[in-house]
Amino acid sequence: MGHEEQNKINDTIMNLNSNGGFQNSSSSRKIFLGENFLLHTLTAQKLYHDFAKDMPIIDYHCHLPPEQIAGDINFENLTQAWLYGDHYKWRAMRTNGVDESYCTGNKPDVEKFQKWAETVPYTLRNPLYHWTHLELQRYFDVREILNGDSAENIYEQCSAKLQTSAYSVRNILRKMNVKVVCTTDDPTDTLEHHQKIKDDGFEIKILPAFRPDKAMNVDDANSFNAYLSKLESSTNASIASFQDYLDALKRTHDFFATMGCSVSDHGLEQMYAEDYTDAEIEATFDKIRSGKELRREETLKFKSAMLHLFAVWDHQKGWVQQYHLGALRNNNSRMTQQLGADTGWDSIGDFSQGRNLSKFLDRLDNNNQLAKTILYNLNPADNELMATMVGNYNDGSAPGKVQWGSGWWFLDQKDGMIKQINTLSNMGLLSRFVGMLTDSRSFLSFPRHEYFRRILCNLFGSEIESGELPNDIAWTGKIIQDICYHNAANYFRWAEVAKPSLTTSAI
Ligand SMILES: [Zn+2]
Repeated sequence: MGHEEQNKINDTIMNLNSNGGFQNSSSSRKIFLGENFLLHTLTAQKLYHDFAKDMPIIDYHCHLPPEQIAGDINFENLTQAWLYGDHYKWRAMRTNGVDESYCTGNKPDVEKFQKWAETVPYTLRNPLYHWTHLELQRYFDVREILNGDSAENIYEQCSAKLQTSAYSVRNILRKMNVKVVCTTDDPTDTLEHHQKIKDDGFEIKILPAFRPDKAMNVDDANSFNAYLSKLESSTNASIASFQDYLDALKRTHDFFATMGCSVSDHGLEQMYAEDYTDAEIEATFDKIRSGKELRREETLKFKSAMLHLFAVWDHQKGWVQQYHLGALRNNNSRMTQQLGADTGWDSIGDFSQGRNLSKFLDRLDNNNQLAKTILYNLNPADNELMATMVGNYNDGSAPGKVQWGSGWWFLDQKDGMIKQINTLSNMGLLSRFVGMLTDSRSFLSFPRHEYFRRILCNLFGSEIESGELPNDIAWTGKIIQDICYHNAANYFRWAEVAKPSLTTSAI
């Protein structure tokens, strides 16, 4: 059967099922991505449609480029909005045998899209298959299956829409009912784009998040000193000693706070929690400042000291700190050399997490310096470890003070989300969970919140129907709304800036 013929059948099925319900009488098979996608019981459907669906979105960690929001840009075509910077798609294309020139190379956008479209039918059961079609539906009202045959038509339809003012990036955020976005920013960032967004009076809060990974990366003396030069110029200070370094960094932390930042983020293989003395750290700084490489022990102590200091500052300001743990990055040195980091050569690492995490958090808690904290693991083998670790440091100051974050990166899919939700239910309080985030570089990723909400409602719904939970729709609905929205609004103290308005602006 050709793709065209299959499309016709798909269209027919979709027409037959315009109400999103079950298919015709000969089968109980549901329509692909229908109204009740992932919602397998009537209770799940009620919970989703009556409680979860219209809740606004707080995206408290993502990688959207603030300059695109400041400029309120339009993408010229679907390749630019969808494929530029999306290493998930590049990995799938490479796995499907597509040449790099169509992923990150110089091929024309339309040809890149064609190669992606031809890859999509081979992504069945990969989350990309769901994301792709959900995004086509929600943003563009396109219900066709994407493949090599439908590519041209879909590309033209979506690209034409993307060029209209209704699809400027700010209007996309409005359409998706987003209330708050936290970007990811280096301490040397001058945040002029955030300032512009603020000056424009944009009603959606686009807030910076402090991500000082480079400020503690002393693995290479040249790179670290280059970073120091950058920090010297962004803070207009000269950095000769460790104290100078701390002063400059602290000024950037203070500056971020004045720009509305109340969240930090760290991407680490594992926590660093060595014992150290101030004198050791000062000497280590002098050594690397003079261009000498550090010994492994010095590196670990320096990273431990910086990580602790950042956490103390976060606590002083009442920020929320996030730790993304466990990625083994840049595994393909040839391609990393060619394309740089974050281009799709990373995998799950098998780092030991428990002991250092415990020591790091305990040191802070002991001194009453532990800020609200969210931990994310990339290795699913660490799920139970994380779910139980977060229960060690609650102190009654806030519900769910230490959180285990939602399925991240390779775990950001149906199976990963279900496992995270179930493990958190078993070992903590799912009801106090701050919920989903996109962690995305794309403005077209917001249906991931919908995807998560459907899965969440389905889990509650099926257990109500099986008698494992009471048939209390009002209470369960409240818990679901908390996880979708209110918990994050309260936890991050954005209840005021992120007031829900249940009407979304329509494109
Ligand atoms: Zn991230």
